[in-house]
Amino acid sequence: MSDLLRLSASEIAAQVSRGGLRASAVIEAALARIAEVDPQVHAFLSLRAEPARRRAEEIDQRVRSGARVGSLAGVPVAVKDNLCDQDGSATCASRILERFRPSYSATALRRVEAEDAIVIGKTNLDEFAMGSSNENSAFGPTHNPWDLDRVPGGSSGGSAAAVAAGEAVLSLGSDTGGSVRQPAAFCGLVALKPQYGHLSRHGLVAFASSLDQIGPMARSARDCALLFNAVAGHDPRDATSLSRDPRIELAQLETLPDDLRLGVPRAWLGEGLDPEIRSAFEATCARFEACGAHLVDLELPDPRHAISTYYILANAEASSNLARFDGVRYGHRAEGVHDLHAMYERSRGEGFGPEVKRRILMGTFVLSSGYYEAFYAKAQAARRLLRRAFDQALETVHAILIPTAPTAAFRLGEKSGDPLAMYLSDIYTITSNLVGHPAVSFPAGATQEGLPIGMQLCGRAGDERTLLALVQAHEGRHDGVGAARSAASPVTGLLGRGPAGEGWR
Ligand code: GLN
Repeated sequence: MSDLLRLSASEIAAQVSRGGLRASAVIEAALARIAEVDPQVHAFLSLRAEPARRRAEEIDQRVRSGARVGSLAGVPVAVKDNLCDQDGSATCASRILERFRPSYSATALRRVEAEDAIVIGKTNLDEFAMGSSNENSAFGPTHNPWDLDRVPGGSSGGSAAAVAAGEAVLSLGSDTGGSVRQPAAFCGLVALKPQYGHLSRHGLVAFASSLDQIGPMARSARDCALLFNAVAGHDPRDATSLSRDPRIELAQLETLPDDLRLGVPRAWLGEGLDPEIRSAFEATCARFEACGAHLVDLELPDPRHAISTYYILANAEASSNLARFDGVRYGHRAEGVHDLHAMYERSRGEGFGPEVKRRILMGTFVLSSGYYEAFYAKAQAARRLLRRAFDQALETVHAILIPTAPTAAFRLGEKSGDPLAMYLSDIYTITSNLVGHPAVSFPAGATQEGLPIGMQLCGRAGDERTLLALVQAHEGRHDGVGAARSAASPVTGLLGRGPAGEGWR
């Protein structure tokens, strides 16, 4: 793998804009890496090789003529295939949208391009972002670059694997209940779920509109902030977009709040938490204490209630959002049917996979007139209580520290027959979506088998800056996953020095 792909996004952009490195050279290196490893990893559903080469040429031309280029000049970015791309697709890894050609591009995609990043391809996901392992993709699963027999997490597994395998330097995913953070944990990356309303959802195919947020994925806090700054901020095309400017001064990542206090909900660390994750958590606590943080025990509502609340609300919203895929307005239409009802049934029956159907059924059920009060209205009330409890806790601490997921990456097939076990892998992430506040996952060690372990910080409303500053401070005391990597892993051969070895940062 070319050393160019070990550079950080900020180094690439700085060198490209000075003319010391050609954007074309970076793109050729990324495309060569994709050709080398993507047959095994399967992070991408489609590539934009020729448009990417043309964009790189054009950026190099502008540098030569002395024109200014953007903050992500020449950086290869992978984008989840549920973001509309007018030059390509938005399949959502579903048969129903396999041939859909968007007529416009998502705001986030247009904004990365406006900063001269280069979108090299669209990445695999669980169908309509529903899942935690990427196994729900209609086009076959993505494999974890650290161990090809394991899942990369989901639903943004393709975006995580692409960066972990060195096929892209940055990526965009979406997070409805943990879908950028859990794959980042499984693949050894930093990923941010922004404050609801800080990053435009215009052009993101909706799963559960009150929970969905696009999130940046990167190998370091600084690169994550750089990508966040490029895409975040008000967008008149998204009615839920906030008017304040959320961008982060990169220099501010160097400073932590005075009298830093981090909350630890000890009761959350019980049943189901893998002992290796638990000890990595204790080690992470100790490192934050060494950074001057004061750790405070917190009492928060039982996260199992958050799971029930989430699966009522998310499915209710999904059943309504996915009604538009009916073979008329959007999506695959079954052939040879002449009756309207039969056409709907056959088109949707053929187009959606089993998990999507399960969620549409559950969502339709909880919204049905006899059950609405018992399920949907109650879940809304539970969401409000959760929000209040979180806000009260966050008055006393700057952020809440918990693991991102209860286990490291599991084996392909291990949980795919048991939807409830799969739903539990989001136990630590979904609360931030229900509450709306930002949360970040960052690498904090590896298991004995050499699999990445992720930890999570959940922040105050609108405060992405403190979260990323904390992650950067942690990077100063720990090298993420690199040190513990198993030399015997088959992935080490695939990845050369391994995704998080020295030199990555
Ligand atoms: N795994 C969760 C689900 O299946 C969250 C998915 C997401 O964040 N998109 O709904």
